[in-house]
Amino acid sequence: MNSAESLGSIYRILVVDDNQAIHDDLRKILAGESGGNPDLWQDESLLFGTVQIRGAAFEIDSAHQGQEGLMMVNRAAAEGRPYAMAFVDIRMPPGWDGVETIVHLWQSDPDLQVVICTAYSDYSWTDIVSQLGHSDSLVILKKPFDNIEVIQLAHALTRKWTVTREARIRRQDLERMVTEATAELAYCADHDTLTDLPNRRLFASLLEQAMAVARRDGETLALLYIDLDNFKAVNDTLGHDLGDELLRQVVKRMKLQLRQCDTLARMGGDEFTLIAGGLSEPGVALIVARRLREAFREVFRIDGNHLSITASVGASVYPRDGREVGELLRNADAAMYEAKRRGKNRMVMYTPEIGQRASARLELESHLRTALESRQFVLHYQPQFELRTQRLVRFEALLRWQHPALGQVPPAKFIPIAEASGLIVPIGNWVMMDACRTAKKWQEAGCQRVSVGVNVSTKQFSRADFTDTVLDIVNQVQLDPGLLELELTETVLMRNPEDATGKIARLRAHGIAISIDDFGTGYSSFSYLQKLPVDAIKIDRSFIQNLEFEPRARSVVNGMVALAHSIGLRVVVEGVETPEQLESLGATGADEVQGFLLGYPAPVERHLPELETPAPLGTAHEAGICLSVS
Ligand code: C2E
Ligand code: CA
Ligand code: CA
Repeated sequence: MNSAESLGSIYRILVVDDNQAIHDDLRKILAGESGGNPDLWQDESLLFGTVQIRGAAFEIDSAHQGQEGLMMVNRAAAEGRPYAMAFVDIRMPPGWDGVETIVHLWQSDPDLQVVICTAYSDYSWTDIVSQLGHSDSLVILKKPFDNIEVIQLAHALTRKWTVTREARIRRQDLERMVTEATAELAYCADHDTLTDLPNRRLFASLLEQAMAVARRDGETLALLYIDLDNFKAVNDTLGHDLGDELLRQVVKRMKLQLRQCDTLARMGGDEFTLIAGGLSEPGVALIVARRLREAFREVFRIDGNHLSITASVGASVYPRDGREVGELLRNADAAMYEAKRRGKNRMVMYTPEIGQRASARLELESHLRTALESRQFVLHYQPQFELRTQRLVRFEALLRWQHPALGQVPPAKFIPIAEASGLIVPIGNWVMMDACRTAKKWQEAGCQRVSVGVNVSTKQFSRADFTDTVLDIVNQVQLDPGLLELELTETVLMRNPEDATGKIARLRAHGIAISIDDFGTGYSSFSYLQKLPVDAIKIDRSFIQNLEFEPRARSVVNGMVALAHSIGLRVVVEGVETPEQLESLGATGADEVQGFLLGYPAPVERHLPELETPAPLGTAHEAGICLSVS
């Protein structure tokens, strides 16, 4: 027993009796006790094995009828000062008798300890128990009272009251804690912790419900699939903390554009869905999407960075585009993919054609999965020449997929799918190996200085084991590393510049050359290139398309070449198709050229004889290969 708690505690006791004399008696006995009677403490100390219980004082209230007693118990509870115990007379005409009173008192306050006071002629204990049930909060006290018995009861029961209440409060606290914890767990299982939005799991059941409502009310429901454009680049360049903050701000802004009844969910990463119900007709989805795009109009300011981000949105509409959750979601996703394909930062409504394209893509992906082991890939090689000497300096390896049923599938069609599905990694490794073997063969055949260019995708390059893989292959093939040039795009490098710089430095330290492919179509920052230790840029063919007609195009290429040279980079120009273009390029100072004029991509066998019998530069015949080798 905790003595400190008992010291100085004041317990409220209610006496319910129709006889005023009993009130006076009990008051005298108990008030006298709390006023201090050393003899009685002594008795108590014998009874409870402690002497530290003194100091407990009793505050006694009187009620003369059961109903009045109940009122007082109610009021005391409302005031937060409940009674610890009650002495209740068994007979109180004309109102409730003691048993009925106790039933009511316990309904109001189950903790109340009750002493039922009876004369010998009153109810028996059996009678009482039969009505009130067995309760350890009930004690019977026979009249006339023995004073000491009253005092001992008061002490024992008030203390029991304290202990019981404490135990109950503790139990309730525990229960509350457990309830809260389980509720929180349930919340976390269905909500995204970063944005507090419903997650994919909860979304599915919310969509199910929304569709049921739309079905019942004969309304249209739009499902919008929202994917941020280039979010990964932000995340990789500026760090995950900033990326997280950007996501939070995006969500905050999107929420401002929603109606009360719209539901936004996070599907993971930078993908969100919006369920907009209660639409009068499918076209209204466009309005919803337009409002959503408002969220992206202004730049986001985070930690001193001004970020402008856009979103690609795909929409499908219930019931037109799907009658069950999976179908509606798949079609919104396909429409979103279409929005990306059409250049991002737009909204596309699902159409059956989009659906066909999506399933064609899926089918292609499944074919792609078996293409490698079924040996359906071959490499074609396209030559590159040094302008000044007209010498063949390199072949670019270009992947070709020959499918038994689909025929030749162009890279522009299957490479994005290979990238999205991750298949590009094993495929890319195969390309690397095959290209290196071929280069080794050229070298052995006597073309000492012809190197091979290999295209590397973002997925491949960003892998931690990329450099090891390349060095392994070079080692295995025993290829002079100086005969390998990797073509990376600016996106690859921008994604994680530190990582890229480290990898490039390591590859170059082994003698492998690095060029920036499709230069001019991405970020094209020379100041940035200056910091990156690469060897060459390949100017995208879009820059030379109008070279012979447009003086401006010429000065742009001139400028690019001059800038690249000023930081020590070699310049390759790709896509040379006409003698005029080749002519104009001579004046720009570009170092190397590649294009249909000089040679088409072709299987290695086709190049081999010509590696041995050179022909003058710029006289490509239909086979596409006419070159000079030194
Ligand atoms: P790229 O790296 O820019 O490759 C050059 C593309 O331009 C090739 O298209 C080539 O056939 C084409 N080309 C060459 N000369 C001319 C010309 O004078 N005029 C025109 N109009 N086009 C010309 P291809 O082979 O269809 O490849 C397309 C893209 O697919 C490549 O662009 C490259 O990004 C990707 N790719 C090809 N092979 C691989 C590979 O092994 N791995 C990876 N990751 N990507 C590859
Ligand atoms: Ca290339
Ligand atoms: Ca290119």
